[in-house]
Amino acid sequence: MPQLAYVNGQILPLASATLHVEDRGTQFGDAIYEVCAVLNGQILDWQPHLVRLRRNLAELGITLATADGPLGLQARRLIARNGHRECLLYIQISRGTARRDHAFPQGAPANLVMTVRRFDFAQRVRQLGSGIKVITRADDRWGRVDIKTTGLLPNVLAKQAAREAGAFEAWLVAGSEVREGSSTNAWIVKDGRIITHPTGTHILPGIARDSLIRMAREAQMVVEERAFTLAEARDADEAFLTSTTALILPVVAINGEAVAGGKPGPVTHRLAELVWNEVARQTGWRA
Ligand code: PMP
Repeated sequence: MPQLAYVNGQILPLASATLHVEDRGTQFGDAIYEVCAVLNGQILDWQPHLVRLRRNLAELGITLATADGPLGLQARRLIARNGHRECLLYIQISRGTARRDHAFPQGAPANLVMTVRRFDFAQRVRQLGSGIKVITRADDRWGRVDIKTTGLLPNVLAKQAAREAGAFEAWLVAGSEVREGSSTNAWIVKDGRIITHPTGTHILPGIARDSLIRMAREAQMVVEERAFTLAEARDADEAFLTSTTALILPVVAINGEAVAGGKPGPVTHRLAELVWNEVARQTGWRA
């Protein structure tokens, strides 16, 4: 079955799904996006993704004619038509197609694109046993990384540096402060306290981050939303990262040095149970 994509109201073969060369997403990175996990054919955390998408559009003054209901219906239709049970749903909305000019165009409707691709979530469950490695890079992004735009060049370069170093992720560090990963949120555990950078303009407010904070607090665990330093991370009892596509993964090395004895720890293990139970509750999916 050929892969199908959604472009401005139409579902068509991925190979022939295109946007105009003067799409503002291409020319200026003038576009926002979401990535959602789909398990058992069900979109995980759809409502929070929708809320963030709307906030991002509002922050940039992009108007999307499609309402929430039809957007969800079209996304589900695309997933069903592709026949995937486990996949990632990608949604991108640009300010539209217009003659190249920095200022906003008049009367150009937003371009809405959706794609899906198969994804092996069971791999994430297996990775809980081994954990992953991270490196660090200077955070040289712009000042509004809380807006989920397609302008991801610093993130791309950081992720590539991680790949070349044999690591899963690059943690972005400003001064001595660890902010987040190139596509994941960063966490440490010290003396039973779970610590992650506060929301604001320095990190992307991750859906996985938000839902983990809620679940951890419901389970009577202590979560501190505060910046932590690289020195604290090196000295932490445990470290881990979260995102829609990573779910939750233990960090066992930072820049080649073992964290927490180089093994996934008990608090991360307990949090992973909460995460995967929530996945099962929402979608019925089990590894
Ligand atoms: N930080 C950055 C920079 C990201 O790109 C992502 C992934 N979108 C995240 C954190 C994690 O966000 P989420 O939990 O919504 O996937």
